Amino acid sequence: MKDADSIWQEMLPKIEVEVHSLGFDVWITPLKPFKIEDDVLVLCAPTAGAKMDVISRYLPLFKRAMREIEGAPADIVIISDDERPQQVDVSSTAPTAASEPSSPVTHNVLNPRYNFSDFVVGKSNRLAYEAALAVSERPGEMFNPLFIYGDVGLGKTHIMQAIGNDLRMTRPNLKMIYVSMNDFLNEFVSSIRSKDGVNNQSFRDKYRSVDLLMIDDVQSLSKKPSTQEEIFNTFEVLKNSGKQMVFTSDRSPQDIPDLEGRVRSRFMSSMVVDIQPPDLETRIAILQKKSQTAKKNIDMRELTYIAEHVTDNIREMEGVLTKVIFLSKLYERRVDLAICQEALKDYRVQECDEISIDEIVDCVCRYFGMQKADVVGKRKNKEVVMPRQIAIYLVNDMMTLPLAAIGDYFGREHTTVMHARDKIAALVASDNAIKTQVNDIKSLVLRK
Ligand code: ADP
Ligand code: MG
Repeated sequence: MKDADSIWQEMLPKIEVEVHSLGFDVWITPLKPFKIEDDVLVLCAPTAGAKMDVISRYLPLFKRAMREIEGAPADIVIISDDERPQQVDVSSTAPTAASEPSSPVTHNVLNPRYNFSDFVVGKSNRLAYEAALAVSERPGEMFNPLFIYGDVGLGKTHIMQAIGNDLRMTRPNLKMIYVSMNDFLNEFVSSIRSKDGVNNQSFRDKYRSVDLLMIDDVQSLSKKPSTQEEIFNTFEVLKNSGKQMVFTSDRSPQDIPDLEGRVRSRFMSSMVVDIQPPDLETRIAILQKKSQTAKKNIDMRELTYIAEHVTDNIREMEGVLTKVIFLSKLYERRVDLAICQEALKDYRVQECDEISIDEIVDCVCRYFGMQKADVVGKRKNKEVVMPRQIAIYLVNDMMTLPLAAIGDYFGREHTTVMHARDKIAALVASDNAIKTQVNDIKSLVLRK
């Protein structure tokens, strides 16, 4: 049976001949074959936005390419990096006792881009930045362990690896390990499975002899209560010998479920700092920095526009910027608002959690010059039915609400909601005028 990697390698040349080379670089190259499960090839895209792009642009092509390959799985699924259970990192997990047990310097897994000078500091992340800087100046002395928490895509991994990258330059002899909690757990579990105890000892030696231990996404520890004892002991050994530990988590130590008391209190007695979503100014500064790195001149107006529309995930914002740059090259045109809007189109799908039904109905009313009472009311004349159906369609399209809840709001059965949804969906596909109306209203909602 072929593995995901070899299937993907066979597919790539078939895909390449059919795709514009820019598109290939932007969307296809970053995809990673993740695994084959239940006869489905799972590919991983770097961001949720990229995932949507790949699905809408290339999925049918991928399927065709795959069908030509002997022994290929039956289907393909694209996931985004956020949805992926952490991948086992080859360079940081010595698989068996056979490999040198105590070669814990795993510099090579650090992303060189994740350094202090590329990190834009603002109110939302200043504390974490200062603490990380202090750690890299005096590892093991202050702030040990350092515990950084915050939502996905806000720079936790970046700031943690910046410590490693910095120390690698200033103290090249320091032994360091960067590992995700998932990898750490997997490695630990396979070490105790070995009967002769050799692996177990090598695991201990490896992790207890480092000067800097960076564990990413420690919230996954709650999945494995039985391993917490060993992990706690490892932390104690490091702490007592003045070795530096840095942890990140998507939530605070108090909020990680199923932690053993001692582990939780070890985390809680850390220097705990959080990273908040960046404010507009910081987001603009990040975009400026990234566009300079990409050697692309983009005007303030456009950068502001992007920053206003992607508010709570820097990784997603980077994804939008990459797409903006791509489109500008493709159209051979300077980045303008139209390009930004196009790049933001798919991203908006996720942005919509913040939208309320009221806002959507409000925009429909403004657009058609009607009262809310008409849209949610009982009347069935032509002038109100169509706007009402468009409102229902948009609520269903832009929000993740059960049909019944939508029905409740509009005072209708959920079958009526389904009918409205399907009717407008069909019209959007077949009638350009309707499509434009629907898109205009959508923009109204999103511009709020
Ligand atoms: P997390 O680990 O919190 O999910 P990451 O560290 O992976 O987030 O950051 C996501 C992306 O956003 C990375 O490409 C990172 O370089 C970028 N990023 C996050 N914060 C900043 C910042 N303050 N300045 C520049 N880039 C940032
Ligand atoms: Mg991370």
